[in-house]
Amino acid sequence: MPLLRAFVCLALVASPALAQVPPKPFTEPLMAKADEVPPKPFTEPLMAKADQVPPKPFTEPLMAKADFHVHIKADLTLDEALRRSSADGIYYGIVVNGGLSFPISTDAGLEAFLAGMRGKPAFVAFQAEGREWVRLFSKQTLEKFDYVFTDAMTWTDDGGKRMRLWMADEVGTITEPQAFMDTLVARATGIFANEPIDIYVNPTFIPAVLQADYDRLWTPARMKAIVDGLAANGIAMEINNRYRIPSAAFIRLAKQAGVKFACGTNNTGAADLGRNEYCIEMIRECGLQPGHFWMPPPDGRKAVQRKPLLK
Ligand SMILES: [Zn+2]
Repeated sequence: MPLLRAFVCLALVASPALAQVPPKPFTEPLMAKADEVPPKPFTEPLMAKADQVPPKPFTEPLMAKADFHVHIKADLTLDEALRRSSADGIYYGIVVNGGLSFPISTDAGLEAFLAGMRGKPAFVAFQAEGREWVRLFSKQTLEKFDYVFTDAMTWTDDGGKRMRLWMADEVGTITEPQAFMDTLVARATGIFANEPIDIYVNPTFIPAVLQADYDRLWTPARMKAIVDGLAANGIAMEINNRYRIPSAAFIRLAKQAGVKFACGTNNTGAADLGRNEYCIEMIRECGLQPGHFWMPPPDGRKAVQRKPLLK
């Protein structure tokens, strides 16, 4: 610990950019958690990371010590989220949503969020909503985030109906569940192939009217199409605490295919932000090791830097 503090102090003194970061992140209990993080977190020169604050220097997978999908929503303020992150020893990825018909639909909105997160001890993430986002935002702004993710919950079916799968009124009655599932798989794999995302979140989510049949509708062939699409495109799969998805069978298949995992919650407020309970259950049940886990990519290797926004 004294050594760690010495490094941090040295970096603070030596680096003008880091000196702009509020001193607060370095004096909170979060720093004490650094000792518990897997070895070698500080083998890279801290000076080179001058514009970053913890937890960004950590390159070893954090497994359930990170929740990469935390929204500042309803009664959860940023200060409260950071306090809880520190108290629980779980690093957060603080996420802003953006897309067509969302309050944020331009670079300017994202830049304002980024400015508000500067110097905070958390990862900063962008959640792309709907399929139109690739035309709304620029690479120059998106690459300032630690990572970008999306889900397959908003898409347009073959009849031209745009749906958000968590909205019962938009989904309506599903008369042909098998055909619906085939369309969902086609849309999801299309997203994996075409959109520059780092993580597939709320993965394998199906509308409430179908959820009782999750295991039957996610046939081995459909599961395989999803995990193969993720593997082929270097996209990680979230293990989602709030929805408790994907299933253990799905996770085992993804593990076999070499897909990396990221714990995430997608909370709606303070009450449903836990401590990665489902992710921990799945780590045990599926025998997941640190090597099976994703970490935010270094600059230059982010999905928006590896793949074009428009294909
Ligand atoms: Zn979300």
